[in-house]
Amino acid sequence: MEKVRLKDLTFDELTEYFLSIGHKKYRAKQVYEWLYKGVESFEEMTNLSKELRDQLDSTCVITTLKVLRKQVSKDGTIKYLFELMDGETVESVLMDYKHGHPICISTQVGCNMGCRFCASTLGGKVRDLTAGEIADQVIFAAKESGYTISNIVLMGMGEPLDNYDNVTKFIKNINHHAGMNIGARHIALSTCGIVSKIKKLADECLPVTLSVSLHAPNDEMRSKVMPVNKKYNIRQLFEALDYYIKKTNRRVTFEYSLISGVNDSVGTAKELLKLVKGMLCHVNLIPVNSVRETGFVKSTPEDILAFRTVLEQNGVTTTVRRELGSDIDASCGQLRRRHENKI
Ligand code: SAH
Repeated sequence: MEKVRLKDLTFDELTEYFLSIGHKKYRAKQVYEWLYKGVESFEEMTNLSKELRDQLDSTCVITTLKVLRKQVSKDGTIKYLFELMDGETVESVLMDYKHGHPICISTQVGCNMGCRFCASTLGGKVRDLTAGEIADQVIFAAKESGYTISNIVLMGMGEPLDNYDNVTKFIKNINHHAGMNIGARHIALSTCGIVSKIKKLADECLPVTLSVSLHAPNDEMRSKVMPVNKKYNIRQLFEALDYYIKKTNRRVTFEYSLISGVNDSVGTAKELLKLVKGMLCHVNLIPVNSVRETGFVKSTPEDILAFRTVLEQNGVTTTVRRELGSDIDASCGQLRRRHENKI
């Protein structure tokens, strides 16, 4: 019989499992607490009897991650390349801010979305991560670094809404008071715009912050850089976002990577302004990270400033993302790619 992967269960499922194997409820809570502390064996669960530890060892698995590569930037950003138990690899980035330690984690091995500027999607999607594997990045980065993780951004490799069930299960688990107890308000989920799933998320009542990778204000331009736009166009995307905002009363963030000569003119900024003006939103401008294979180059500081000014002068709150970790392979997918290609 296949062993039960405990971190893929919710707290309630784990409780049910313990009841089904003839143990008391409170045992499930004890085990849950150990799992999220990052123990790697049942032996370490010292408040359980030897007999129970042996029983769990023969029927259940504690998934673990191995640090395959670790890069530390001058600004304190740490990038991990983790190896999963089947040998696949994922990236996570742990940041070192004055006010805390956010972590950016992956939701899939590779990605199927095909965004032209992104390194994660170059080899397609290999597989989805399970809820436990998504949590393991937070658990093992915290354990390895000694930091207390303050925020989580689902903005690493993969499209979270293309792995909807595992991602929402992960959010509920990481949220749980017996686990890491990180509030949904401290979790941001970034999507390229899978409209059907944005509506589903709105109905789910998980108060996460939704980020939408927009990158262009019209269909012609967006379809050129983001193939998902051919399936769900801008009008459909904005309808779904209106629904999301109405249902949750939460502000959405638009991610907009500025690519020189592609989407960074003042005219394009004015189009973007028309699209988002009056919406409960925030625009985050990101100078595109150049990835060798894509050929895209980041906008100049002057063009970035001009673009930002159009939005700000018209009342749209706008930030330009600090380029953390630019001396390491900060852009998602780069470190894994380098590892796979042995460069
Ligand atoms: N699939 C999700 C989350 C992963 S990508 C999404 O599309 O939102 C995380 C963010 O990084 C997205 O906004 C994505 O568009 C952006 N991104 C990917 N490659 C980039 C690059 N080379 N430079 C700047 N931003 C990039």
